[in-house]
Amino acid sequence: MTSTAALPADPAPAADGAAATAVGLTKTYGRGPAAVHALRGVDVSFGRGAFTAIMGPSGSGKSTLLHLLAGLDTATSGQVLLGETDLTRLGDTALTLLRRQRLGFVFQQFNLLPVLTAEQNIVLPTELGGRGSTPLDREWLGVLVDVLGLRERLAHRPSELSGGQQQRVAIARALVTKPELVLADEPTGNLDSRSGAEVLDFLRRSVRELGRTVVMVTHDAVAASYADRVVLLADGALAGEVTDPTPEAVTAAIDALRTSLPTAGSTR
Ligand code: ADP
Repeated sequence: MTSTAALPADPAPAADGAAATAVGLTKTYGRGPAAVHALRGVDVSFGRGAFTAIMGPSGSGKSTLLHLLAGLDTATSGQVLLGETDLTRLGDTALTLLRRQRLGFVFQQFNLLPVLTAEQNIVLPTELGGRGSTPLDREWLGVLVDVLGLRERLAHRPSELSGGQQQRVAIARALVTKPELVLADEPTGNLDSRSGAEVLDFLRRSVRELGRTVVMVTHDAVAASYADRVVLLADGALAGEVTDPTPEAVTAAIDALRTSLPTAGSTR
């Protein structure tokens, strides 16, 4: 097994170019008659340098898949590969290090620290100290701050920023360590449509112009249309995908899913 302690900032790409791969991934909560099969054998690859959205009806397993990709939950069977590292074989300490060094997170609730300025929040992942912390690359920080339009806001605290600005700070924080994979969980769920569009545009630019890889869970067809590819889940299994998605194509695919799954609810 590869040690995660001394990884370079930009590890060599895996042979197949995938940033992350799920292989026969299953997750069952509970046992016996009460068991819930949240994932029923999912095989999916997330291309390096691509922006992928995960969509599906409520309860289809989107959050479970994202949590397993993040190493925040353990699989019942199957594998989760980040590059060539099998997360399902790592212990807690190695997973913590891997998350710190190789993953970035963007949450619906921004999750900024209120007492820190925007700049202090952004650089926080480089200041955690201890084994495996990534040193701050000031040039990269400057690029992020400019691309995200945060230059004039760096000294402000989160309470002095709009929701859209706070989420842009959170994106900069997610990207500051140049992670191999950025996982975004409903990143526009708390934003008005204009701020949401800005945030999605930045996520897309971070892929196209800054070479990052983003996987985003969303229930919003317009948000999903910013991605290069939409992966659809239904009842814990892959249920198709839409490449080069438009909002109309995504909506049609979700409607078709609902028709084939009469009990499925909203896409939330
Ligand atoms: P989605 O994000 O698509 O709404 P989830 O991944 O949250 O779906 O949930 C998939 C299924 O797993 C649902 O039936 C949900 O109720 C169940 N589930 C999720 N987390 C837990 C848990 N901690 N314990 C038991 N069941 C869970």
